[in-house]
Amino acid sequence: MLIIFSIILILTFLIFGRVILDKYKTTRIKSEEIRLFQTANIVADTYKGNMEDLVFARIMVKSYGKQANARILVVDSNREVLIDNYNTYIGKTLNNQEIISSIKGQSKSGLYKIEDKEVLQLSVPIALNIGYETKIIGGVLISASLEQINEDIEDLRENMLKISIIALTLALILTALVANRITKPLRNLSRGVEEITLGHLGYEVKGSRGGEVGQLIKTFNQMSHKLKAIEENRKKFINSISHELKTPLTSIKVLIESLSIGNNSIETYREYLKDIYGVVERMENLVDYLMTSIKLEDITLNIKKEDICQILEDTVKIISPYAEKYGVRLSLNSCQGIYVKCDKDRVKEVFINLIDNAIKYRDEGKDYNYCSISINTTGKSIRITVEDNGLGIPEKDMDSIFEGGFRVLEGDIKLGKGVKGYGIGLAVVKSIIDKHKWNIYLDSSLGVGSTFTIEIPL
Ligand code: ADP
Repeated sequence: MLIIFSIILILTFLIFGRVILDKYKTTRIKSEEIRLFQTANIVADTYKGNMEDLVFARIMVKSYGKQANARILVVDSNREVLIDNYNTYIGKTLNNQEIISSIKGQSKSGLYKIEDKEVLQLSVPIALNIGYETKIIGGVLISASLEQINEDIEDLRENMLKISIIALTLALILTALVANRITKPLRNLSRGVEEITLGHLGYEVKGSRGGEVGQLIKTFNQMSHKLKAIEENRKKFINSISHELKTPLTSIKVLIESLSIGNNSIETYREYLKDIYGVVERMENLVDYLMTSIKLEDITLNIKKEDICQILEDTVKIISPYAEKYGVRLSLNSCQGIYVKCDKDRVKEVFINLIDNAIKYRDEGKDYNYCSISINTTGKSIRITVEDNGLGIPEKDMDSIFEGGFRVLEGDIKLGKGVKGYGIGLAVVKSIIDKHKWNIYLDSSLGVGSTFTIEIPL
């Protein structure tokens, strides 16, 4: 990329320099030509005025030649040299284009290369006016070297080259710096993708600037953290499930081992088998949980117009004995005939999960525990809140609470340790709420309690 840019820049400089130098040379030659034509005309006039005094005319021509830094020759109508400021051509006949043309009454100029040196040669006719007639009596030929002009152009070329090299170097340095600045975040991002591919979840790309790339980096970092959280949850989940399966399996093994030793009565067998049955039932529940967790995405709804108040009342009725058992006061504010389109059984499942959690994660250090359910309608939505004064959820865990396999109890809260659960309930709740295109919010404070709010847009 930088090489292509450099080539374009160098070519532009070369072409531009060439055009400027050519233009400058043409202009300089043109002005030299004008100056020499003026001198030639002056010489022609001087000759005409001093034809009788050739010695004086020669002195004059010599002085003009010196001034103009050129060779000046005056020829008669037979092109024979009368005056030469270098004195070497006197008496010789000239045959060049310029002289032939001037004898015919035409001024002419031409550029020649003599021994590698450029020479500008021009001639004017010497014309005498006799009456109405004009008679050509000879011509003036001037030839001047263009060496000075070429030297000036060479100087200019050198200066331009120096300036071009400096400008080009600066431009390339600046381009490299700017290109590096532009591509650095993209290179960082590509490194980030490689790191994630290598399994380094949670890798963070540095340099979150504004703009599109900055936004991309921000989103990438969010994705990376999310992947890390999912992976950690997955490990925790598998760990707790393995643990939960290992315990009953060990119990079954021990029970079977005990039975196989000695002569046991049929009563003992029955008792042991009952215990084994209880353990197997717990394992079955666990496997059910697992299957629910795997099938979360596949939940399909049986949508009908239902009275949400009725659903809430039914749920409270089912769960009341359980709440009572653990001393949690369950209340539902008055509500009548609010109809929404939903899957009745799935929505019941949502409320059972939320109320069950409020009971499970009660704070036994408090004087009394409650779980109150209320329903409110505004013009835009129906809001159902399930509020408790339980253990509460730490702020840092609130975003992860709806993820499958997440349990706060395995983290910071020491209180309530041993409460059974697999971190599936709220993931099921969220899935059902999402499928209904409803919203669920959590507001919780550690040691104070939690409020889950379900918003049903109207
Ligand atoms: P489970 O209860 O089986 O662990 P959930 O998905 O229902 O799984 O809940 C996830 C975690 O969220 C729980 O382990 C608990 O730490 C926390 N949690 C849920 N509801 C509450 C609540 N009402 N009060 C305090 N903590 C809660």
